[in-house]
Amino acid sequence: MHSISPNLLSVRPAVFLALLVAGVAGHAQNGATVPADAPYRNANLPAEKRAADLLKRMTLEEKATMLSGSGWMESAPIERLGIPAIKMADGPMGVRSWLGSSAITSAANAAAKIETTSFPSGVAMAATWDTELVRREGQAIAQEVKALGRDMILGPTVNINRQPLWGRNFEGYGEDPYLSGQLGVAYIKGVQGEGVIPSVKHFAANNEEYERHRVNATIDERALHEIYLPAFKAAVQEAGVWNVMSAYNKVNGVHCAENDFLLDQVLKQEFGFKGFVVSDWGSTYSTAPTVNAGMDLEMPGGPPMEKWLANPRTQASGNSDGWLVPAKVLAEVKAGHISEATTDDNVGRILRVIFLSGIFDHPHAGGGAVDTPEERAVALQGATEGIVLLKNEHFLLPLDKHSIHSIAVIGPNAAVARTGGGGSSLVRPKYAIAPLDGIKEKAGSTIHVTYALGVSMEGEDPAQDTPEARALALKEATDAAAKADVAIVVVGRYNKLESEGFDVKTMDLPAGQDELIQVVEKANPHTVVVLNTGDPVTMTKWIDQTPALLDMWYGGEEGGHALAAILFGDANPSGKLPVTLPKRYEDNPAAANYPGKDLEVNYAEGIYVGYRYYDTKKVEPQFPFGFGLSYTKFEYSDLKVAQLIRSSGSVKSEGTSVSVKVKNSGSRAGAEIVQVYVHDGHAKIDRPEHELKGFQRVELKPGETKTVEFRLDRSAFSYWNPATKAWQADPGTFEIQAGASSRDIRLREPVPLNR
Ligand code: BGC
Repeated sequence: MHSISPNLLSVRPAVFLALLVAGVAGHAQNGATVPADAPYRNANLPAEKRAADLLKRMTLEEKATMLSGSGWMESAPIERLGIPAIKMADGPMGVRSWLGSSAITSAANAAAKIETTSFPSGVAMAATWDTELVRREGQAIAQEVKALGRDMILGPTVNINRQPLWGRNFEGYGEDPYLSGQLGVAYIKGVQGEGVIPSVKHFAANNEEYERHRVNATIDERALHEIYLPAFKAAVQEAGVWNVMSAYNKVNGVHCAENDFLLDQVLKQEFGFKGFVVSDWGSTYSTAPTVNAGMDLEMPGGPPMEKWLANPRTQASGNSDGWLVPAKVLAEVKAGHISEATTDDNVGRILRVIFLSGIFDHPHAGGGAVDTPEERAVALQGATEGIVLLKNEHFLLPLDKHSIHSIAVIGPNAAVARTGGGGSSLVRPKYAIAPLDGIKEKAGSTIHVTYALGVSMEGEDPAQDTPEARALALKEATDAAAKADVAIVVVGRYNKLESEGFDVKTMDLPAGQDELIQVVEKANPHTVVVLNTGDPVTMTKWIDQTPALLDMWYGGEEGGHALAAILFGDANPSGKLPVTLPKRYEDNPAAANYPGKDLEVNYAEGIYVGYRYYDTKKVEPQFPFGFGLSYTKFEYSDLKVAQLIRSSGSVKSEGTSVSVKVKNSGSRAGAEIVQVYVHDGHAKIDRPEHELKGFQRVELKPGETKTVEFRLDRSAFSYWNPATKAWQADPGTFEIQAGASSRDIRLREPVPLNR
């Protein structure tokens, strides 16, 4: 039996525990022939036991091999022991088309392309506030992952929308940590329920793309705990997530891939994460510090990684990789800089997930169908529920099929389906419905639909970018609008302006689109403006003249059908903003601290992100967080709040029960998203005006009333106390608010909190 070396006694407690579980005595078996009935092959044993058994049969070399990928999207298999490679695919809005074994995902190889369901962007799904639907989306995506013979989907993205220009705002779930966490949990449950491994990303504070490999985000511990980490905590504690992906950037001076505070102290110790951490692609910068901080798997790896790194552009943009290849890891173990207990912990975590997910016992052979009718239905429902009705004067919407004879559909995003933003999340679907397609289909033969470009999308078609071509396009749009009963202008951005890898240049709409809206509105008072983009846009030039406004975000392959259903009233809008839409870029709380100076960005606004800022500092937004109109009306009544203290034996459970009645007082069936905020006016520390702590989407028939119930635990009243480094709720009287948005609080009730 090996004696425990002093070296091992100084390892992290979690690692030491894993070492004991694995059993040091097991080293004797390393490399020996494996009997067919070895415990790890027994599917009836718990994953932990199987991982411990397998671990003790592995040589150090084999363990070191497992710390880096074998391909662009594959972890390393160990054939001798039957350990499979984990085969990954990009997400989160569907399975990103991948090619060949190594999934070089965007290669333009038409012959081999794989077309999958393009689901709405994350921000669109967030606008549904529909956790059950997001769970079904995760499930549908996982089914496609399996159908393609893969094991892991690289999503969900739960980074917070800190400011309007992050290139990946479209991918995340908005500005609120609770909303983002609940939707992330739902997605993860859907994925894991299918035996597919999700990857909640990017840990942590990846809130700008600008110099994403080099930028250092200075964030105080309170803002980290209250804003940037809760969605990851929920993923770990409420969904038991199997994998977390680290971020490219530095947080408080240290790259996330080697950030001991984030990976070890917070994720593994404070949150109790038992899965494995994967690096973002090309985000590691050292060997021992990375492994010792808690990085379990570096990606990518193998020949694709070498080829990629050999490209000067890869390195110029700050990618670095190949730090956890076996030779480097082994050298550091030999030098005493990495203990074998640490590699045991890394590998033990990966193995546990391989067993838990079922991919060891039932490999995903592939060959199944993708983009099935069921999967499309989820995409359509998401796109429909995610559309937010922002303005509707004189009931211009829904359009009345019987009184309208002509519609002019106008704009650079009208005839092209802009399904998602750019980068690793962009899915290549079999088909995609553009707004014009959807509108034509719904209009049928009785309504004459015309189309005009109006202005070309910035950077898309140089032929359209001359003064003459622009003037002509604008004139065609004005004429079309003037001749029609209704004009629908679809504006926004596309995947070359809004993407991973760089930030959006400006909050303003791309060149010429404001002017287009203005001339169309002048030509036709019945103009509906549709926003088709993931980031907020400046509306000040036209919003006062706009009678009707919809935000359809990037709606995936079914976006055009969803839009048409809302326009014609086949579906009642129910989406609500998961992000504040500011009036001017300068109004946003991070404006003074973005993108930073000399690669340093200071999150000086602290916890005052999104409505926490606008509502506390009384800055009027264009449209507030949680806002969205309907074709019907909802009335709130009977807000009841009660403190619950239940004792059963020696166990005391406590919480606050909240119930509120919601009535559909209009004449159409519809869904309302009821929001519960907590206001703390007595804390010993400054707190935001209020914080979202509960929400529910309720479907109501005309005249129907439902009682919506919530249960708040102590965490709903707590803040992170930086002095004690702990969550704290100060006893006193809090206020529970039930509202239809952060600025439309319908009912308030005090509630005492003792102790
Ligand atoms: C992105 C990740 C993605 C990975 C693999 C990175 O550039 O930040 O979100 O999963 O690439 O494609």
